[in-house]
Amino acid sequence: MVQPHSIRDTDTAKSERLGLSTLEDISKLILQSSGLDQTLRNIVRLVADRMQSEVCSIYLCENDRLVLRATLGLASDSTGRISLGFNEGLIGYTAETRSIVNVGEPQSHPRFHYIADSNEEIYHSFLGIPLQDRQRLIGVMAIQTIEPRQFGPIEISTLTTIAFQLSAVVASARLLDQLDHEPFRNNDSPSTDVAIVPVGTDGQVVAERVEPTDSLLLKGELGFGGVAMGPAYLIDEDLGVSEIGDDEPFDLGTEQERLSEAIEKAKIETLCLEKRVAQRLSEEDAAIFHSHLMILQDRVLLEKLRADIHDGRSAASAIKHVIGDYVRAFRRLDDPYLQERAADMEDIGRRLLSNLSGQVRDIIQLPYEAIVVAKEMLPSDIALLDHARILGLVLEASDSNGHAVIIAKSLGIPTLVGVADATRRIRPGNNLILDSASGALHIEPAKQIRSEYRRLKIDGLRHQEELEQFKTRDAVTVNGTKVTLRANIGLLSDVSIAQQFGAEGVGLYRTELPYMARASFPDRKTQYEIYRRVVEGFPSQSVTVRTLDIGGDKSLPYFDTPRELNPFLGWRSVRVSLDHRDMFRTQIEAILMAATHGNVKLMFPMVTTLDEVLACKMVVAEAKQNLMNEGWTIPDVPLGVMIEVPGAIAMATHFAKEVDFFALGTNDLIQYLLAADRGNSSVSHYYDSLHPAVLAAIAQTVATAKRCGKNLCICGEMASDPASFALLVGLGLREFSVSSPSIFALKALLSKLDIKTLQNVAEQAMAESSGARVRKLISEAFGQVPAKD
Ligand code: PEP
Ligand code: MG
Repeated sequence: MVQPHSIRDTDTAKSERLGLSTLEDISKLILQSSGLDQTLRNIVRLVADRMQSEVCSIYLCENDRLVLRATLGLASDSTGRISLGFNEGLIGYTAETRSIVNVGEPQSHPRFHYIADSNEEIYHSFLGIPLQDRQRLIGVMAIQTIEPRQFGPIEISTLTTIAFQLSAVVASARLLDQLDHEPFRNNDSPSTDVAIVPVGTDGQVVAERVEPTDSLLLKGELGFGGVAMGPAYLIDEDLGVSEIGDDEPFDLGTEQERLSEAIEKAKIETLCLEKRVAQRLSEEDAAIFHSHLMILQDRVLLEKLRADIHDGRSAASAIKHVIGDYVRAFRRLDDPYLQERAADMEDIGRRLLSNLSGQVRDIIQLPYEAIVVAKEMLPSDIALLDHARILGLVLEASDSNGHAVIIAKSLGIPTLVGVADATRRIRPGNNLILDSASGALHIEPAKQIRSEYRRLKIDGLRHQEELEQFKTRDAVTVNGTKVTLRANIGLLSDVSIAQQFGAEGVGLYRTELPYMARASFPDRKTQYEIYRRVVEGFPSQSVTVRTLDIGGDKSLPYFDTPRELNPFLGWRSVRVSLDHRDMFRTQIEAILMAATHGNVKLMFPMVTTLDEVLACKMVVAEAKQNLMNEGWTIPDVPLGVMIEVPGAIAMATHFAKEVDFFALGTNDLIQYLLAADRGNSSVSHYYDSLHPAVLAAIAQTVATAKRCGKNLCICGEMASDPASFALLVGLGLREFSVSSPSIFALKALLSKLDIKTLQNVAEQAMAESSGARVRKLISEAFGQVPAKD
C-alpha cells in the first residue's frame, strides 16, 4: 500500500527521473520494434515492469469500440478479440469520462463488466488512463494488480506521461497505416517535392532572390509583441540542405547504403533532439519526436524509398519524391489535425536530406544576434536554434498558434507572422526593425526611422541603467512608509523578468496565457508543471494564481465560445469556469499541487455574487479531496476574489466572510463603471483611470477591505504608471502588482515623496470634477504626467 504523502523535493526528483527515463525508454522501444503492434507489446511490458503490476493492457479506439491491442497479463489470445463499447466496463468508463479511473476492488464498482475468459476476477485494483492526442481519444491504458493497491501520485503522474507519449506514437503509426493502405489517391502533381532552397557548395543561395527596394515596409500579424532591431538571418538558407544532384550518375548499391546511413543518422539526431527539447522545454513538447522515430522506422516508407532507388533515382531524389508524396497526401486529408502532420513529414525529409549531404544539423549557433526570418518553423528548427541570439522572429506562415510561435511567446521573442514573401524580399544581413505590436517590419529603414527607434532604445536603456540602483531597495516613501511591489505575470518567461526587476513575488498570475499559447487544453500534469515552475521562481515570496479568465477579449483557439452581442457582459471568466466544472476542478487541482512547492494564493476573477464565491470554494474542496484520495497532502491555500465589477464593491463585505484577500482589477472596473469598452479605440477617451468615479470606487474598496481586515492588492494597469501609483498610495493602497519593468520607476518616484503629501493630493483629487483636472493636479504635485490609458 502506498502511503499518502506530499510530493516534496525528493519525490519530485524521483518522479522527474522516472518520467525522463521513460521518455528515453519509449524511444528505445520504438527503435526495437517494427510497426505499431510490436511497439505496443513492448510498451505494456515496460509499463508492467515499471509499475510492478501483473497486468498492463492497451485498448485502442476502432469503429467506436475499444479493442484490446496489447496485453501483458490477460490471456494473450484475447488481443484483437476483446472489444468493449464506451458504455461497457471500467475501460469504457475511463474512455467515456476521459479521466483517470483509480479503483480498489474493481468487481464491486458499478461499472465493472466481466469479460469471459479474460481471467480478470483475480485482480484487486484497477487504474485506467485515457490515451489522448490533441484532445482526441485514441484509447485506454489499464493497469491491474492482484494485491489490493492504491496508486499514488508519482505512479499516476508517470503513467500519464507514458500515456501522453504513447498517444503521439499511436496517432502517427495509424496515420501512416492509413496512407499505406490507400496511399496516394489523386497523385497528380509529382513535381512538388519537399521544398528545398538550393544552395551552392559554398553555402550561398543559388536561387534567384527578389532584390529588396532600398527601404521597404512589410506588414504582418502579431505573434508576440515587442520591438527588435538587428540584421536578418534567413533560416531557409542556413538550415537548407546543400545541392541535391538528382541527375548525377550513381551506383545503385552505394545509394542504398547512403540511404541506410542517412536514416540511421536521422534516428540518432531525433533522439538527441528529443532529449534536448525535454530538458529545455517540456516532455510534452519532446514527445513529438517519438512520432518522428516511428515514421523513420516505418517499413512501408522504407520500402518505397528503396524501390525508388532501385528504379533509378538517387537517394536524395528518392527522399524528395517519396516524402513529397507523403506531405501532399497528408495535406489533402480533410482533418486539420492530420494535415498538421505534414509538417512532421517535411521535417523528417529535411533531416534525412541534410544527413545525406553530410551537413549535420547541430545546434544552430547564430553567428550574430539576429532577427530570424523563415517561411515557417518546424518543431526541430526551433529546438536547434540558439534562443539567446534570436532578437525577433518573422514568419511567412500565418499560423499564430503554430509550435514555433508558441515557443517564441514563451521565450518572450517579438514575433510577426503572416509576412508575405518575407524570405524573398529580405536578404541575409539586411537591417531590420521589427515592431510586431504595430504589425510592421521595416527592411533597410530610412535614417529617420532608424534613429527614432534607436533613440527610443537608447533612452530606454539609459533610463533603465539609472534606475538599476532601485533593484535591491525597498519601495518606500521619504519618511518610511513601505509598500509591496509584486509582478503581474502570464508566461514562464515572465518569471525571470520579474526576478530581474526585484519583484516581491507575484500578485497576479494570469493563467489563461499558457492556455492561449497552446494548441489544445493543457492537461493537469502540464498545468501543474507550468505552475510549479512559476512558484519555484519565487521561493520566499507568494504567488497569487488566478483561475482561467477567458471570454471578453480573450479566447482560446480550441474552446467554443458563443458569439455574443456584448461579450464583456456575457459568458466570461469565472462564469465559464463554473459552467465547466471538470475543467475548473482540474485547473484548481493543478494549482493546489503546485502549492506544495511554495507559497501560493488562489484567486477567482470577476465574481459578482456570493453564490459564485461559495461555488468556487466548493470546487476547491472537491479538488482538495480528490488530491487527498490520490495521496497528496495539500497545504492551506489562502483564497481571494478580484474586485473588478462595480457590483462586487458593494458585495465585498459579504465576500470578506468567505475569502482571505481581495485584488482590485481596475482594468475591468473602469470599463464597467464608465461603460467604455477597454479595447475600443473609438471610446478610449471615455475610458479614464483617473475619472473621479473610479477614484471614489477605489477609495470605497480600500475602506471596506480595511474594515473587514482583509489584504487588498491592486493589479490593474494604472498601478504601473508612476503618477497614478503615487495617487493610489495616497488613497491608502499598500500592495501593488505591476508590470515588472515599471518597478524601478515606481520606487524612484516614491522615494522622493512623503506620505502626508500623497494623502493630501489624493484627498484633493477625490474632490475634483473630471479626470482631466485630476491629471493636472497630480502632474503638478508629483512632477510626472500620468500616462494616458
Ligand atoms: C483587471 O481587470 O484589472 C485585471 C487585472 O485583469 P485582466 O486585465 O486580466 O482582465
Ligand atoms: Mg480583469
